[in-house]
Amino acid sequence: EDVHTDIVVVGGGGAGLTAAIEAKENGADVLLVEKLPILGGNTKFATGGLNASGTRFQKLKNINDTPEKFIEDTLKGGKYINDKNLVRILANESSKIVEWLTKYGMDLSDVGRLGGSSVDRAHRPKGGYAVGEQLFDTLEKTAKDLGVDIRIATKATKILYDGEKVTGISVKTLDGESYNIYAKSVILATGGFGANQDLVKKYRSDLKGFGTTNSPGATGDAIELLKDLNVAFVDMKEIQIHPTVIPNDNHLITEAVRGNGAILVNKLGKRFVNELATRDVVSQAELNQRNHVSFLIFDENIRKSLKAIEKYSNEGLLTQAKSLKELATALHINANELQKTIEKYNSFVSNGKDEDFGRESMKFKIEKPNFYGIQVAPAVHYTMGGIKINEKAEVINIDGQIIKGLFAAGEVTGGIHGANRLGGNSLTDIIVFGKIAGDSACKNLK
Ligand code: ADP
Repeated sequence: EDVHTDIVVVGGGGAGLTAAIEAKENGADVLLVEKLPILGGNTKFATGGLNASGTRFQKLKNINDTPEKFIEDTLKGGKYINDKNLVRILANESSKIVEWLTKYGMDLSDVGRLGGSSVDRAHRPKGGYAVGEQLFDTLEKTAKDLGVDIRIATKATKILYDGEKVTGISVKTLDGESYNIYAKSVILATGGFGANQDLVKKYRSDLKGFGTTNSPGATGDAIELLKDLNVAFVDMKEIQIHPTVIPNDNHLITEAVRGNGAILVNKLGKRFVNELATRDVVSQAELNQRNHVSFLIFDENIRKSLKAIEKYSNEGLLTQAKSLKELATALHINANELQKTIEKYNSFVSNGKDEDFGRESMKFKIEKPNFYGIQVAPAVHYTMGGIKINEKAEVINIDGQIIKGLFAAGEVTGGIHGANRLGGNSLTDIIVFGKIAGDSACKNLK
């Protein structure tokens, strides 16, 4: 049965839930549709952290960070093709959203290092609660407490447009029921297209056959939904592959394992890259190794420093051994070379200087038994490209004009991350721009 509301949000991941919360807090009537029978999207799978600069949690740890550094790291990581205005907002709003989430009960007090960041900036819960899960739980609870009308198993199939402005959406439920939701503002938060092999192949034939870490909902529906509205899409070719995914099983190993001290070696037992370089650089270096085979290697101290590794252990993903030699044998790596590599790496840790690859953060020597290894390979992880938006999260068409009543936030949008997204920047993106979309959608009601 057709319904009327102020604002309809399409997509129940982090960006959609945030937009819904913000709009509801501003007093609007909000309905959110999610096509899958569960909420959460890719957001729920996030493992690295939420990047923010100048936060009180950084200050407590004497980490000296500023939005300017955050902007520079993000632009550099994105190869300077990012939309600078959007990046500026991302960085400037970042510490405020840490407070905003903390207010709703989220714990972001632990701060760690992810690739491409010049300082420790990735905020995450202490004590093992994965950041994506806790973020999702916090947002879902908040949205439900506030009374957002959430409809799962309900897919947006069409955007309604009267020639002047967007007037709502058509939906179809998993039970086969179809109806219209009329609204003054529509917020698109449908995520990326990393799980749509045909689209990935269309934009990047070189990624044919790659695995993906994505939620099954990340199929790029926005492209089809917007095809009659002449919406501008940017950077569609920019697809991120994540360097540490377990082959065939698509299990992502968080970048924080490297951030906390793990190294990468090839079958010869040799390091081949600065493990904390950006994801595109590390992935390419892995693809340059013979048979594309590489391994994360770490020791007991590193294992203990990160709760996520405990989970991997329980899931049976770690190869474990009492000595490096045994580990090398178990993983079919050259044992002598591995030993030499680690001796050399440990001397770099002592001297505070990685003479081979210039890695800046080396938190532990690899010396304490047990020793651990995980075979990893790159897989499709994130689509940087998407809908062009302005600073108000308004959707822009190919003539550079806004489409009245239509807003977008999160992975469905393009421009913020340029040619390569830094680990930790997607969570910042979805909260900062989810809030902006919620605010703008409310202003449109007046
Ligand atoms: P973001 O991080 O930008 O919030 P997510 O991947 O976390 O992106 O969430 C996007 C959500 O949108 C997913 O849960 C996905 O299933 C949902 N979605 C995608 N297409 C549609 C659609 N056509 N109708 C309703 N929900 C959709």
